[in-house]
Amino acid sequence: MNYNQLSINLSKELEYKLKQMVPFLKPTLIYEDDVTKVHLEDLKQLGVEGLILDLDNTIMAPKSARLDPPVKSWLDIMKKNFKIVVLTNNKRAFYLEAVRQVLDLPVIGFAKKPWSFGIHEALDILKLSNDKIAVIGDRPLTDTWLGQRFGFKTVLVKALTADIEPRWKYFLRKLEWSFIKR
Ligand SMILES: [Mg+2]
Repeated sequence: MNYNQLSINLSKELEYKLKQMVPFLKPTLIYEDDVTKVHLEDLKQLGVEGLILDLDNTIMAPKSARLDPPVKSWLDIMKKNFKIVVLTNNKRAFYLEAVRQVLDLPVIGFAKKPWSFGIHEALDILKLSNDKIAVIGDRPLTDTWLGQRFGFKTVLVKALTADIEPRWKYFLRKLEWSFIKR
């Protein structure tokens, strides 16, 4: 059996099992592009006043602690218009501190999305009702699911590194996006 066949069989079996466990996820907005294409006006029209941003692959390449210029420009506009917190499942305190310095935003780690561990801290900072908050992230099963559970608006974007990632990651990503109802 070659790798592609294995992927397909595994995909069907996994998809079947996961779909029994996970509700269908319907993001408020889906962008077939990275976060920099998320329009300010789209968010304003939804009545959004605050953002919960995912970190890895949404606004930074994983483990980089580096903000690409296009993302920085996008973030500068968003900072002028919204209250923002960054919520990540990343657990490395040293790395999170570096990210905090680069972003100049509150960064909450150990969030265990889609569960609620980091959410209360995020809500304390934003001080907004849940329907005025949008979660922006690249992962349906963490970011979108979390948003759906808390009544936030949800914005699903393509991963920043989607074009350069290894094949197995691409496969998992496709599988995860199969939960999305458009
Ligand atoms: Mg992510």
